[in-house]
Amino acid sequence: MRFVVIGGGPAGLRAASTAARLGAEVVVIERDVIGGAANLWDCIPSKAMIATGALVSRARRAELLGVCPLNPEVDLKSLAIRVRDVEERLVSSGTSQLESQGVRIVRGSGRMNGPHCVEVCSSGEPVETFEADAVLLSTGSSPRIPEWAEIDGDRVLTTRQAYPPPTIPEHLVVIGSGVTGVEFVHMFSSLGSRVTLIVSRQQVLPAKDPEVAAALEADFLARGVNLAIGARATAIDRSTLGVAVRCDDGRVIEGSHALVCIGSVPCSEGLGLETTGVNVNSGGYVPVNRHCQTNIPHIYAAGDLSGRLPLASVAAVQGHKVAEHVMGLHTHSHRHLDYDKAASAIFTEPEIADVGLAEAEAFAVGRKIRVTKVPYASNARALIDGEPRGFVKIVSDPATGVVLGGSIVGSHAAELVSVLALAVTANLRVIDLAESLFVHPALAEALAEAAE
Ligand SMILES: Cc1cc2nc3c(=O)[nH]c(=O)nc-3n(C[C@H](O)[C@H](O)[C@H](O)COP(=O)(O)OP(=O)(O)OC[C@H]3O[C@@H](n4cnc5c(N)ncnc54)[C@H](O)[C@@H]3O)c2cc1C
Repeated sequence: MRFVVIGGGPAGLRAASTAARLGAEVVVIERDVIGGAANLWDCIPSKAMIATGALVSRARRAELLGVCPLNPEVDLKSLAIRVRDVEERLVSSGTSQLESQGVRIVRGSGRMNGPHCVEVCSSGEPVETFEADAVLLSTGSSPRIPEWAEIDGDRVLTTRQAYPPPTIPEHLVVIGSGVTGVEFVHMFSSLGSRVTLIVSRQQVLPAKDPEVAAALEADFLARGVNLAIGARATAIDRSTLGVAVRCDDGRVIEGSHALVCIGSVPCSEGLGLETTGVNVNSGGYVPVNRHCQTNIPHIYAAGDLSGRLPLASVAAVQGHKVAEHVMGLHTHSHRHLDYDKAASAIFTEPEIADVGLAEAEAFAVGRKIRVTKVPYASNARALIDGEPRGFVKIVSDPATGVVLGGSIVGSHAAELVSVLALAVTANLRVIDLAESLFVHPALAEALAEAAE
């Protein structure tokens, strides 16, 4: 089986690794780095910066834990080196993993030149061609830039210019209050910026449970973030001293820098898909079936390009499933990916994580559910750590007790939600959680308690 992967992000990396383990002859074509945008621009640098911000804000609260007041300062140069170091280590471990499995990594831009032919270009010129029995398109996405915003990388930025910028913005105006926007609000306000968040709807995180969004809004307000609710940005004016973001309701929000976080666009242009007959939808995504096959069965798409849940975690599992399907393993113990059961997290303070059915979602469709909720403030470990904000909420089926979903707001939510994700995936019941013998004192005890 000759398997060619275009794009070595989480989807392509995992697909290549699994397929090689299963015996395929694998080529990965990557124009930047193995690990993809996730390593270079998205998950990793953002979380590395947030880790520094978290340390700063924790140090500012040191007195609460009996430590004399600390006044930490961020050293931007060291921060930039650290962010780069984390990225490089991950790129290097992904690259060595593939090389040790005999995967050939080819540097350059890949594009289709017919249904079974993949061409690699460097500086626009074809340099090598591969015949493939199966192809995975996993070229990811890049930040969406509206026509009214001119990104100059100096005062007007996308997330890609923010790791870190040359100076900590004095007053950052963040446009967009989805997951990426709120993470950057948190990151820069922890690092010392004044921040204004432009929220086009009536709450931050419009797609999330209102109670969860309210907890985050309360934190933002408490730390002095200015929320411009119900305002849609329509233009950014630049001056030498800063920016002025004009909104559709007449408001003008001034700041030193603007950060545009209004989603992403798939990287499907220039892939030569017209030579293959692969369908692309009006948004530029490549639609796939439950095996991640496009309309041309031996050509697959996974990760952000497939237009499903844009998460690195989902991309990697899609890649794994693609490799199994390519190698004919789907007929045995293959389970289909259930996107509704994907856990996701928002790395703010408090951290937010959820999985499965949300209370508001069940309410909207009139589904009967049981909701149980426990505050962090009643958990011993949360009090010991000086982190009593937040709650654990579990949604279950009142008739069977099966765990359908849950939300966690509070420290280490992104870790804790894995327990709920396992419960949701394995159809565990609340009693299975309630009777598990967790460690004491541990945050996980809040899960057992909420399951009672
Ligand atoms: C700021 C930010 C933070 C995020 N944080 C998280 C997080 O914490 N957790 C999480 O799960 N998700 C997070 N995401 C989402 C996550 O980054 C994406 O869902 C994930 O990277 C998608 O993986 P992918 O494999 O589709 O593609 P990508 O990671 O985008 O990788 C695609 C690769 O394809 C390469 N490529 C593109 N075109 C070609 C071509 N023609 N030839 C060769 N190579 C090509 C690119 O160079 C790139 O390396 C975040 C996103 C953003 C914007």
